[in-house]
Amino acid sequence: MNRKYRKTIIAGNWKMNMLASEIKPFVEQLKENLPKTKTCEIVLCTPAVMIPAMVKYGKECKIAAGGEDVSKFEKGAYTGEISAAQLADVGAKYCIVGHSERREYHGESDMLVNEKAKALLAKGISPIICVGESLAQREMDLTMEYVAYQVKTALSGIDATQLRRCVIAYEPIWAIGTGKTATAEQAQEVCEGIRAVIRKIYGARPARAVSILYGGSMNAKNAEELLAQPDIDGGLIGGASLKPVDFSVIVKATDQD
Ligand code: PEP
Repeated sequence: MNRKYRKTIIAGNWKMNMLASEIKPFVEQLKENLPKTKTCEIVLCTPAVMIPAMVKYGKECKIAAGGEDVSKFEKGAYTGEISAAQLADVGAKYCIVGHSERREYHGESDMLVNEKAKALLAKGISPIICVGESLAQREMDLTMEYVAYQVKTALSGIDATQLRRCVIAYEPIWAIGTGKTATAEQAQEVCEGIRAVIRKIYGARPARAVSILYGGSMNAKNAEELLAQPDIDGGLIGGASLKPVDFSVIVKATDQD
């Protein structure tokens, strides 16, 4: 982390878990375990129908509510889709785009991720843009090449002012939900590489200001070491974000100098 230049963010991704009625007790338990002074922005990304409840009860812990996906379209006849305006209207401040589960199960391409990020930015929502390599790509030594391509494509047509609202999440696919975490060195190496890609496009200052998160089985035990890395500015957390005590430990792990 480098708090001097950028925001530290601990973001949960609840995926298709939990119910709106479970948010109040979750936040109450989280509050009991959180330190009085916050050293990071706490974000909880939930299914869209749960965002209003997160906005309502999350205030207790200054939680910013987020969505997990968005339509690339502004409005119209797209049954089942949810627009960026609709997310903003119910109070979402962030939204995940390009999660590997969307890429794998819904065939989302890097171009589509770019369109979704732009749709969110147009409505004042910060996209959390997920990138990351498969195990096969890592084993073939293609990690940085592939991740650099994903970052460049996702940011295509996004200017330096809009970049300030973007968050990048490096999530090696082989580490998501598997209990296998990238080592702190592996995660730092790729996050540093992502910042270098952004530096090449936008220059040193904008690159220095972008928050880059690590995601992939981050938990109460490994968070401190991962967050100690200079280019890892927080975490995108799946499984451990469903447990308020574990999630609070990860938030507390941002309190390091
Ligand atoms: C995720 O889904 O973004 C994620 C990182 O999940 P987990 O923490 O469970 O690996």
